[in-house]
Amino acid sequence: MATPGNPRLRPAAVPPAVLGVLRRLTEAGHRAWLVGGVVRDLMLDRTRHDPGEFDVASKATPTEVQALFRKVIPTGIDHGTVTVVEGGARVEVTTFRGEEAYVDGRRPSRVTFHDDLEADLARRDFTVNAMAWDPLEDELRDPHRGRADLTRKLIRAVGDPRERFAEDGLRPLRGVRFISQLGFRLAPRTRDAIPGALQVVALVSRERVAEELSRLLVGPHAAQGIAALSATGLLPVVLPRLAALPPARVRHALAVASEPFPTSRGAAQEDERERCRLLRMAALLHVLPPEEAMQAVVELRLPNRLATGVVALSGGRCGLDEEGPSQGNGGPAGTRRWLASVGRERAPLFLALWKADARHQGARTATRVSEVRRFAARVAAELRGGPPLSVAELALGGKEVMELLPGISGREVGEALRLLLEEVLESPSANTKARLSGRLRTWWETRAADRGGTGKG
Ligand code: ATP
Ligand code: MG
Repeated sequence: MATPGNPRLRPAAVPPAVLGVLRRLTEAGHRAWLVGGVVRDLMLDRTRHDPGEFDVASKATPTEVQALFRKVIPTGIDHGTVTVVEGGARVEVTTFRGEEAYVDGRRPSRVTFHDDLEADLARRDFTVNAMAWDPLEDELRDPHRGRADLTRKLIRAVGDPRERFAEDGLRPLRGVRFISQLGFRLAPRTRDAIPGALQVVALVSRERVAEELSRLLVGPHAAQGIAALSATGLLPVVLPRLAALPPARVRHALAVASEPFPTSRGAAQEDERERCRLLRMAALLHVLPPEEAMQAVVELRLPNRLATGVVALSGGRCGLDEEGPSQGNGGPAGTRRWLASVGRERAPLFLALWKADARHQGARTATRVSEVRRFAARVAAELRGGPPLSVAELALGGKEVMELLPGISGREVGEALRLLLEEVLESPSANTKARLSGRLRTWWETRAADRGGTGKG
């Protein structure tokens, strides 16, 4: 069957290197197909540019593929996958795979295989991921009616969803992740099969769970994905500590995490995603006590950078509930102290999180929103003045302190710099060499006078 009426499935959308690989395989007698997510994305016009994302499948074994191309890397040879390197591009080529369970004759009523391609498609998770397209002949193989589901925006398991989820607990997690990425819904039978599969989902490694959650949180339809996570019962498996809280707290966390976090102007796409992932993850965990949030992050085995950011934003003394903007009072100096304690980089993240949190405060919403808005305005005003906020920004460095006060110990230098920062946060105009040197000498003299005592700490 050719591909009528799908203007998006055009050979021109396929990188030349990939077409070259398909042609070489086909000419050698191994008809080759683009399979899986790439066909789905082409149909949706979600462009892929990297040839490495175009999965090619054929009957050819890794050895046969190796014989056909000059450079082949045995990337996943156990699973029949090799990487062909052609003209600088890398293309993944996989041998058709079937699932034993489907060919052992115990389920004859279900699937009849026409060739190995059909078996390969039958083992795939969702119908929209189970299509194959040969761009050279423009032929589409769609035995599970993935194209119709794509049109109806449905994520539907291939075959019996209960069996498919029992085989692999990663599938329900992928399903809700696709909801967030594509804005689709779960087909009813597929959705209803998830609660019965939770024990299998619990067997998935924490890293994989975190990876799927991470991707769900940055999808363009993250709110839908988060709602599905909760509605299907997957939440307790993904974030048990959150799910164990009283329902109102859980709902609050999910609502905050579902807010459309504003994009930061000019940020590159990857940074943007990183920022959004951090904010949503922190929002999910901000209702936990600090130690619990920390534990949750450890248990999820989040990558280091993300873990550090989430812990900083969601727990400890900077937590949303512990130190809200209402406590950030104390005038301009108080605002600067807050900025110094959270850091210039992180301040906008706190504000974004607090704004999102403020919008879900029930009867206190209006008050809270205006509090946060006022605090954000104060922060913006302070930042415009470019005040020094860290020891590194002081007009005097550690070396100068040592020159000024011969005999000072390393520990005392640290103490001196912290004292100067305090002064400067109180009054930024004090950040000159002359003023700070004067302050330093007074401090040192007082200290000398107190010698033997604790000094001025
Ligand atoms: P993305 O690349 O955005 O994750 P994808 O659909 O390409 O989406 P991959 O993980 O790259 O996902 O997998 C490629 C294809 O392999 C999928 O489209 C699907 O057909 C199949 N697949 C992946 N994981 C599973 C699984 N757990 N069970 C069954 N089939 C799977
Ligand atoms: Mg993929």
